[in-house]
Amino acid sequence: MGTKILIVEDEEEIAELEKDYLEVSDYEVVIENDGQAGLQRALEEDFKLIILDLMLPGVDGFEICKKVRESKNIPIIMVSAKKEDIDKIRGFGLGADDYMTKPFSPSELVARVKAHLTRYERLVGTNVKENNIIEIRGIKIDKTARRVYVNGEEKLFTSKEFDLLAFLAENPNRVLSKADLFREIWDLESVGDIATVTVHIKKIREKIEFDSSKPQYIETIWGVGYRFKV
Ligand code: CA
Repeated sequence: MGTKILIVEDEEEIAELEKDYLEVSDYEVVIENDGQAGLQRALEEDFKLIILDLMLPGVDGFEICKKVRESKNIPIIMVSAKKEDIDKIRGFGLGADDYMTKPFSPSELVARVKAHLTRYERLVGTNVKENNIIEIRGIKIDKTARRVYVNGEEKLFTSKEFDLLAFLAENPNRVLSKADLFREIWDLESVGDIATVTVHIKKIREKIEFDSSKPQYIETIWGVGYRFKV
């Protein structure tokens, strides 16, 4: 089975053209013309990449990108007819991986799709190596030995701090709520609440961040939770 790609695009001719070009390159392509249907599909199915139009009936591309990013770190290429819109969405930092202004050549699109998929597969494939070591920009997490190295220097972690850091690093670019993290790391019977998560994040940042007031690894998503940036 080919790599599955979702196109959310209300202009059917453009969507069909993109699909034809991608299928020639052996991708399996699904088109949704409506924003709501596109969003639902993006969340429910296992796509490896999304090509997302900005102006859509129902839910627009901004909203779809934001919602998808809450749970998935697959590449998202956003397209728009307006150059100004592209500048705007880039400024919002919604987490799209690439932006293209219409009209663009379909072969240019295919080239970018290929590049993003290669990068993504490398990321997913190498983050967790067979020997259970996660390495991200100067941080090395050895899951077998339960040790953490920052720029080659070992830092001491408590058991829960370690579990929390490892879990975040294994889910890069994904926004995880404090409640999710609490559930994942602390068992349900344990005493405490989600404020425990905040305290542990603070301690982890002191160990891994160069400046914990400007975190480069664990980003705070206000009102939601945290994201480990890759
Ligand atoms: Ca449109």
